[in-house]
Amino acid sequence: MKTLFLDNNEPNIRTAGKILRDGGLVAIPTETVYGLAANALDGAAVARIFAAKGRPMDNPLIVHIQDLSELDSLVAYVPQAVYDLAGRFWPGPLTIILPKSDLIPDEVSAGLDTVAIRMPSHPAARAVIRAAGVPLAAPSANTSGKPSPTTAAHVRDDMDGKIDAILDGGPCEVGVESTVLTLCAPVPRILRPGRVTPEELEEVLGEVDIDPAVLGQLGAGEVAASPGMKYKHYAPNADVFIVESSLEAFRSFVNQQDPQTTAALVFSGEEEGLRCTVLPFGDEGNELAHANKLFADLRECDTRGMKNVYVRCPSSEGVGLAVMNRLLRAAEFRVLTLEEDA
Ligand code: AMP
Ligand code: MG
Repeated sequence: MKTLFLDNNEPNIRTAGKILRDGGLVAIPTETVYGLAANALDGAAVARIFAAKGRPMDNPLIVHIQDLSELDSLVAYVPQAVYDLAGRFWPGPLTIILPKSDLIPDEVSAGLDTVAIRMPSHPAARAVIRAAGVPLAAPSANTSGKPSPTTAAHVRDDMDGKIDAILDGGPCEVGVESTVLTLCAPVPRILRPGRVTPEELEEVLGEVDIDPAVLGQLGAGEVAASPGMKYKHYAPNADVFIVESSLEAFRSFVNQQDPQTTAALVFSGEEEGLRCTVLPFGDEGNELAHANKLFADLRECDTRGMKNVYVRCPSSEGVGLAVMNRLLRAAEFRVLTLEEDA
């Protein structure tokens, strides 16, 4: 299949809308990461998303809407909490899980009786949903398991020849996927952290739980509340290690590795004195910058043929919880703790 590369303009948005109405796949920019969109009400179109990504069929998709009026027909009922959350966070990087209506095909919900809904804020994403005239199912537009794409070039690297079109809306603002919150639990529960933080959700909802799978590893036989949490995820080809240590210990450890195949992800300003590929991912403590850079840096490690990537351990405060959630999975939970004189 020949993939069209579309600049972000009005005629191309109409083209994208038509492709989607006709059952095709279009990668679209959102404020979080690029999404791979299909008509959410067309099970056959949605099935093509799974084929293009190599995504396991039991991992459900998020349905994207651009107006609250679209919600009613997609869910069994709308609790008051949705209006409270929408008032503060929609349009924006919050996904809410609700009991689904019969309109949602099994391909979208992966056989669950719930559906995940989000209203993105990116103007191009909203315009494409409007042009398509239907809600859009859209997971991240990467090959399953790889770091999510935050530029159209990342999407092209994974999806060229596999999808109908890529709409280039420039780099994504947030850089990590939306916060996923289920309202189908006794207490609202965060299944995946994102730009909307637990503290911000608590301001609206009072009590909010955080699923243990956010920073932990599922035990054998445990059922994931969010099926996406059980897979290897966000990982480049290189082996990633999170390193807990002082900068001095980090530097001396990394300088003992093969400089040709080793990359270091460090806080900005720490580049000096490292004899390997060095990628800065924002000032220490600037979790928004880490979120924005993490996936692009991990992809860059593959582009440069790295075998091992050592990452200075970032804070998991606020948006840092989302960064740590992605990083732990990219690293397959490998955390090195170095002694001071390592
Ligand atoms: P992605 O589309 O790649 O951002 O992944 C969507 C995430 O939302 C995955 O982790 C899914 O498992 C999760 N998700 C989507 N729908 C549901 C649902 N109905 N219940 C629980 N998790 C969901
Ligand atoms: Mg994804």
